[in-house]
Amino acid sequence: MLELKFIRNNPDVVRADLTKRGDEEKLAWIDDLLEKDIQSREMQTEINTMRNRRNIISREIKEAKKAKQDISGFLEEAKSLPAKIKDAEAALEEINEKIKYYQMRIPNILHESVPVGADDEENVLVKTWGETALPSFAIRNHGELAVEKGLAEFERAAKISGSGFYMLKGNLALLDLALQRLALDVLGERGYTPVMPPYMMNRAAYEGVTDLGDFENVMYAIDGEDEFLIATSEHPMAAMYMNEIFEEKDLPLKLAGVSPCFRREIGSHGLDTRGLFRVHQFNKVEQFVYCKPEDSWALHEELLKNAEDIFQMLGLPYRVVNICTGDIGTVAAKKYDMEVWMPREEAYREVVSCSNCTAYQSVRLNIRARDAHDFENKYPLHTLNSTAVATTRTIRAIMENFQEEDGTVVIPKALRPYMNGAETL
Ligand code: AMP
Repeated sequence: MLELKFIRNNPDVVRADLTKRGDEEKLAWIDDLLEKDIQSREMQTEINTMRNRRNIISREIKEAKKAKQDISGFLEEAKSLPAKIKDAEAALEEINEKIKYYQMRIPNILHESVPVGADDEENVLVKTWGETALPSFAIRNHGELAVEKGLAEFERAAKISGSGFYMLKGNLALLDLALQRLALDVLGERGYTPVMPPYMMNRAAYEGVTDLGDFENVMYAIDGEDEFLIATSEHPMAAMYMNEIFEEKDLPLKLAGVSPCFRREIGSHGLDTRGLFRVHQFNKVEQFVYCKPEDSWALHEELLKNAEDIFQMLGLPYRVVNICTGDIGTVAAKKYDMEVWMPREEAYREVVSCSNCTAYQSVRLNIRARDAHDFENKYPLHTLNSTAVATTRTIRAIMENFQEEDGTVVIPKALRPYMNGAETL
């Protein structure tokens, strides 16, 4: 969410951003928002004056009585004031609600390097890493191969949970855990504290961290409870400091969340019924950072580098793209995706999303930092998040890139310390 003060002082920056995004609807909101903001402040002053008058008037009545003056005028005024205040408060609340409605929906201000484009076709290539040679044999489907080896179950998972679910068994279950352990070890060495968050969050916390559309399309709501299954550990890590104030000496705060992620995947096509690419539940290690505004762009590059290093340790070829306006959503000011090479499809597919959300989440969640040199000055800090590794897509990439002609899959060396001696699947 943008600060109201920011919108008030920089309406042209907000308008230019919405124009860059091609968002005509929200562009049309700005004039009304600015007008309502003026009305709101005028009404607040009026209400304060009336409240003040209400406090003074009883004293004036007392004094008038003492002086044996006529108090009927005062009494009439005193009688009418509470209703007038109540009406004005109700009108103010209505206006403030509309302002909040706009504020919750106006997207973040994009970084100047975000490319303009209609959809993911127009994301811009930043770099590629690794060789993408195709083998001389036909690569087997990872899901079928895993079932054949007794390492996964899809039908039984569908029987108990529905399609889009799976079970991993034996060394494939270990491989999932190995990916998480490798990522946590790499990040741990670099100063990121592992965090195992709750897997459910309430609406107030959730509204602070995500696009409102996610409530319909992404998250599972728990029947009869004000709780949602988390779609990523980014969300609890962003919300955990809601309504708190950081001291600058504690920044940057670097966290490595590890959790299952639950996704409804409404509207996205191609949910896997016998595969691991797009599923309702997967495990993920997620990087999350709180920092001072001036540090966030360097940290954005650091998060990307951490993810790249993990994929380089795995030996998986990838490319990095700069996400365009039509694909970036409302929360991030800039987003990189890493896409891993999937040789069976002969295509790069998304495995990592790396975002600088600037102050958007912290304003919404009321998380601030106290200026070390000016104690009175509190400002919203910046938040960043990036996948370190999302397990199931990475497992598919491993099962395709390191598959041999007889169907053996060679486990990357970096994962073997966590595999109880197994070198292949
Ligand atoms: P996101 O939090 O949506 O940016 O996703 C972060 C990463 O999680 C993606 O880059 C994928 O690697 C992985 N991911 C997202 N959705 C799914 C899904 N439905 N099934 C498997 N992996 C997913």
